[in-house]
Amino acid sequence: MNIQPVLMPAIKRIALVAHDNRKNEMVDWANWNKPILTQHMLCATGTTGALLETEVGLCVTRFRSGPLGGDQQIGAGITEGHIDFVVFFWDPLESHSHDVDVKALLRIAAVYNIPIACNRSSADFMVTSPLMAGEYVRLAFDYESVVSPAEEAASRV
Ligand code: PGA
Repeated sequence: MNIQPVLMPAIKRIALVAHDNRKNEMVDWANWNKPILTQHMLCATGTTGALLETEVGLCVTRFRSGPLGGDQQIGAGITEGHIDFVVFFWDPLESHSHDVDVKALLRIAAVYNIPIACNRSSADFMVTSPLMAGEYVRLAFDYESVVSPAEEAASRV
C-alpha cells in the first residue's frame, strides 16, 4: 500500500466535541489551554461549540449538534482534508442515540492518521507538543492505491 504525505499547516484546524457528561471538563480544559487554542482554527459540534464561545470566549465554527449529524460533519471534514486534529471527550459510561456516529468518527480519524485525543491528559499532551507550532507532514495510507483481487483479475483479461 502506498503512503500519502499530507501537509498539516502550522495553524491547525481543530475539531472539538464533548458529550454531555464531559462538557464541563471540555470547558475547563479549553479555559486552561485557551492561549494555545486561540492560535488555531476551531470547529465543534453545536452545543460544545456554543459553550466554548460563551464560557471560554473562543471563536468556533459550529456544526450541527452531535445527535443531529455534527459528528458526521467532522468525519466528512477529515475525509475532505479540512480538519487536522480532533479533541473528542466522548462518554465511556453511557450509550447514546448516535453511538454509531461516535464509532464512525473514531474510525475515520484512524483511517486518515488524524491525531485524536479522547481524554483530558491526551489532549494536554497533544496541544503542548512542539509539533503544534509548525507544519507537520502526516503520513496516511493511500487505501485507494490497493488493487482488489477482482480488479487485479479484471486487469489480466
Ligand atoms: P453537541 O454534540 O456538542 O452538540 O452536544 C456532541 C455529541 O453528542 O456528539
